[in-house]
Parts: sequence; C-alpha cells; structure tokens
Amino acid sequence: MASGSGLVSGAVKRVYMDANATTPLLPEVVEAMHPYWMEFFGNASSIHLDGQRARTAVDRAREVLAELFHCHEAEVVFNSGGTEGDNTAIFGLLRPGDHLITTSIEHSAVLQSARRVGGTGGVGVTYVDPEPSGLIDPEAIRAALRPETRLISVMLANNETGVLQPVEEIGRIAAEAGVFFHIDAVQGAGKVPLDVRRIGCHLLSISAHKMHGPKGVGAMFVRRGTPLEPLLVGGSHERRRRAGTENVPGIVGLGKAAELAMKSVEDGTWDRVAGLRDRLEAGVLALSGTGLNGAGSDGKPVARAANTTNLWFDQVEGEALVIALDLKGVAVSGGSACHSGATEPSHVLLAMGLDKARARASLRFSLLKTATDADVDHVLRVVPEAVEKLRAVSPLAARTLG
Ligand code: PLP
Repeated sequence: MASGSGLVSGAVKRVYMDANATTPLLPEVVEAMHPYWMEFFGNASSIHLDGQRARTAVDRAREVLAELFHCHEAEVVFNSGGTEGDNTAIFGLLRPGDHLITTSIEHSAVLQSARRVGGTGGVGVTYVDPEPSGLIDPEAIRAALRPETRLISVMLANNETGVLQPVEEIGRIAAEAGVFFHIDAVQGAGKVPLDVRRIGCHLLSISAHKMHGPKGVGAMFVRRGTPLEPLLVGGSHERRRRAGTENVPGIVGLGKAAELAMKSVEDGTWDRVAGLRDRLEAGVLALSGTGLNGAGSDGKPVARAANTTNLWFDQVEGEALVIALDLKGVAVSGGSACHSGATEPSHVLLAMGLDKARARASLRFSLLKTATDADVDHVLRVVPEAVEKLRAVSPLAARTLG
C-alpha cells in the first residue's frame, strides 16, 4: 500500500473514498490477530491452556470495548457486526402490541427488521422523517411517543450523508418516557466520542470493518438489566446473550481497531480528515450545477462525521459517474442502491426531500482516516473532467437545454 488511501494497482493510482462501505485493516490490527489463527487457536470456552489463552484475548478486547463505550465489561456482547446488532435490538426487545419509533433514514439492517416486526410481528412502527438537512428533530421523536412505545432506534451518524443525530436529546426523551433506546453507531463509533452513560441508551451496535477492523465481527453495548432476548440460541456464550463459538481472531482485531480508533478521536486525526473533506467539497462545489446534500437552512452543512460528504451533480447519472471515476482510479458510492437488479434512488436522500433525479445524481465521498492531500488533489483533478464528459453526452442535459 502506498501512503494514504492511494493504492497503486498496476499503473493506475487508486484513491479509495468509500470508507463508509468498508475500511482496510491497519497493519497493527493484522499483527494483533495473527497469532490467533494458528498458534492460539483454542476455543475460548475450553478449560485447558489453549482455551484459556483464547479467553484471555477475548477478555482483553472486551476491556477495550468497555472503554470505547464507557460501560462495564459485562455489558459488552461480541457478535457478527452491525446487521446482527441492529436485528438483535429490534427482534430481541419487541413483542406483539409494542410500538417502535425509528427513522426513515436508518440503515436497511434497522429498516428491514422494523418492517418485519411491523408486519408479521404485530408491532406498531413509526418512521420519523428527517428535516431537509438530514437531521432528525428530537421533538418529532417525542411527538411519536405512544403509551405502548417500548423502543426508540436512531442512528448516530448516517452512512450516506454523515449527518450526526442528536442522540443525547433523544436519550433524554427516552428516559423521560421510560422507553428503551437503541443506537446504530456503526458509522459514528471511532469518529466521535461515545459515552453510553451520558447518552443514556440501553443498546448500541458497532461493526469492526467500518473502523479498520475485520469484516464479520462487531459488538453491542447491552445495558445491565435490559430484557433482551438473544437472536441466536445454543451455547451459553457471551453470558447467554449470543450463542456461538467466539470468533477469537476477529474479536482481537476489533479490540485493536477500537484501541486505535479511540486514539484517533483524541489526537486530531479527524480534524485533519475534516480539513481534507472540506477542501474536496469546496473544490467540487466550485463546479457549476453541483450542491451539498445535508445543508441546513443557512446553506451550511449540519454537524457531520468528519470523513463524509454527499454531493449532487446536475445532469449526471450518479451511477455513470461512479463508473467513470472508478476508471480514473477513484472509488466512491452513488446515491442509489441496487436492489434485485434495479437501481433505486437512496431512501435517505428521498426522505430528505430530494427528487428522484437529484438523488440519482448524488455521490457519497467518504475518506479514510489515512487520506492525504495527494488523494484530494487526484480526485479534484479527475472529477471535473468526468462530470464534463458525462454532461456532454447526457440525455438529461439535452432535455434541459431543449
Ligand atoms: N448500520 C449502518 C449505519 C451501516 O452503515 C452498516 C453498514 O454499512 C450497517 C449497519 C451494517 O453493518 P455490517 O456491515 O457490520 O453488518
């Protein structure tokens, strides 16, 4: 790997600006995991020395996660990642007759779970829409409360816009109402300080691969006394809250990634990344027919994760721009997702009030914490040319002009 996120593949410099999709493992993470594949391969539930070595490593990682969350070690549950955490919160707490409040801009791991409990599960579900900025108004959450509301589930940072949600205010509303509160912190953990006690949430989900850890492993904070039914049953792992032999190398990798992530939150790393993101954003917005998704009524961005910007490009099909940029060595994501072979505009951007064409014309740039000035320079070199070429052949442009 070259410096920053500029990977060199063949002759083409590659700049990876899709950190919200996933991140590469940091060398320290690989190094920490390495012994647990072959040397210390024991089952953490075995009582012999090999098992105890694995158990010690899992316990050490648990201590780090407890530090990340600001909770007791007994409140950390390891699992397979963000999807499992989100599913567990919703399926594990809600019963027929209950009411769930969530938002229309959650990740599909929450939305699909909500649809399922709202369909066959007999749970009432309210989806609160964001303001045009992408922010959820805590008062809209309060207004959705019902006597039978049992759970509020709101994300910390949106994966598409980076917008940070007012989870502390929502936590206060949940506490006043005596309602459980789950936070999908998959995109916020390791980027902003986390303190489950201050927020007052009962459940919180994170994923290792969004913070330079391995894929397929994550963790949940489960506040002591929360009556959460496990999603997976079997052995008595994780204090009976998640059955299945622990993924020891994965958990060790998550622990190391979390340790490094906590350092990054404190050492100014994200201020540096925010500076790069802002320069990238300003450079793109200097092009005609572009705009920012996630701006307040004053036109300025609302509070966002430092690494994310979501921008629209008039008269451009976002998917075509993703491909054009990929050919120029730049990896980004579009404002649409492929569901069963059909490209649908992003539900997040639509909920913010964008029309379908503008949502389809939007791109998400999400920088790695290792991003460099050279990465931004490269992207700012290739974007104008790619946009210009696409506009020159765009039927959307022809329609507008004609
Ligand atoms: N929640 C959010 C906000 C996400 O961005 C993602 C992944 O993109 C998930 C949940 C799912 O996490 P995982 O990939 O670990 O299942």
